[in-house]
Amino acid sequence: MLPGMEKRADALQRLRRTHEEVVLATLRAEGPMSRARLTKATGLSRTTLFAIISELMERGVVIESGVADDRPRQRGRPPTRVSLNPDAGLLIGVDLGRRRIRVAIANVARQIVATAADDAAADADESEQADLAIALVRKVCEDEGIGLGALEAIGVGLVGVMDAPDRRWRAVERLEAAFGARVEADNNARLAALAERTWGAAQAAEDIVYVRWSVGVGGGLISGGRLLRGAHGASGELGHVSVDPAGPPCHCGGRGCLEGRIGMPALLDALAAKGVRLTGTDDLLEAAQARTPAVTSVVVDAARTLGTVLAGTVAQLDPERVVMGGDLATLGGLVLDPIRSAIGELALPGTRRTLDIVPADLGPAASAMGAIALVLTGQDPSPPHPGPELL
Ligand SMILES: [Zn+2]
Repeated sequence: MLPGMEKRADALQRLRRTHEEVVLATLRAEGPMSRARLTKATGLSRTTLFAIISELMERGVVIESGVADDRPRQRGRPPTRVSLNPDAGLLIGVDLGRRRIRVAIANVARQIVATAADDAAADADESEQADLAIALVRKVCEDEGIGLGALEAIGVGLVGVMDAPDRRWRAVERLEAAFGARVEADNNARLAALAERTWGAAQAAEDIVYVRWSVGVGGGLISGGRLLRGAHGASGELGHVSVDPAGPPCHCGGRGCLEGRIGMPALLDALAAKGVRLTGTDDLLEAAQARTPAVTSVVVDAARTLGTVLAGTVAQLDPERVVMGGDLATLGGLVLDPIRSAIGELALPGTRRTLDIVPADLGPAASAMGAIALVLTGQDPSPPHPGPELL
């Protein structure tokens, strides 16, 4: 195929997918309806709509229920209604975290039907992580009696910046090869933001700052309902805002990054320097919940530092809600209050603006769910991966 033709075919394919999304979104939101009502509701032409419905029926994504609309019978064949096939259109979300692989499975009606998780070795590369995810999906499907015949798409959450043509994409290729479905990928903290907006603490909000505070510090920004990715796939990298230009070097190449100051290893180090030795995340959370004074003071200081950085984000993005996720956010008011006061003092003095700063709703499966939201809502996909010849 000539390059120009390829581009055109690509554009047509994209347009068709957008139309499909409109039809599916309407059926999801309003339930079964006749083709005539669906034509009106979607604003598509009759010809386009009928073509899309036939294709979706062929793929088993929608079914004809055969029940007439509630309106006076007219002559001829009674109108039938079209609805989503609850047994079809499965979507899989995969989160390839640093040490833990999570999967979630949803039907086309947006219901999460299964989730599962497994540990990955610390030194597992992306291909090995993807293989673990593939095995986990197959196992959960077998356990729950879920067939993958109607698998529509797979979303993948990955650690780090998304534009580098490196081995991360091998995970995407492996999943594509294993399941023969469309695969889209994005940064897993950004996907958690999308999940909170779709199912969690930020539903119906259009302008959202999402923060994940755990071992690392990450985030996702949603503006006007769109997930921001940035020009280089690095939007929302809150953990790499420098809080001390003369500070220690960071793995990102910068110095004195927020993550190096308040990430879980930094908190454990700060406590060790005070003679409080804790073994890891669970240990620290437990001591903080028990209000061990040395631990709460380190956590509160760190929350205040995070709030100071977030004040900058709030001043620039003007969100309606800040959603705090990650392990540290489970401490509730202990971390949320210092963050609230830092933002209030630094970003909102003298304004009448209101800003909700709330804990995340979805827990550790948020990124896997967000990977589903990515393929479900038709949010802009991540940049096309470069293909094996460029690896
Ligand atoms: Zn950094």
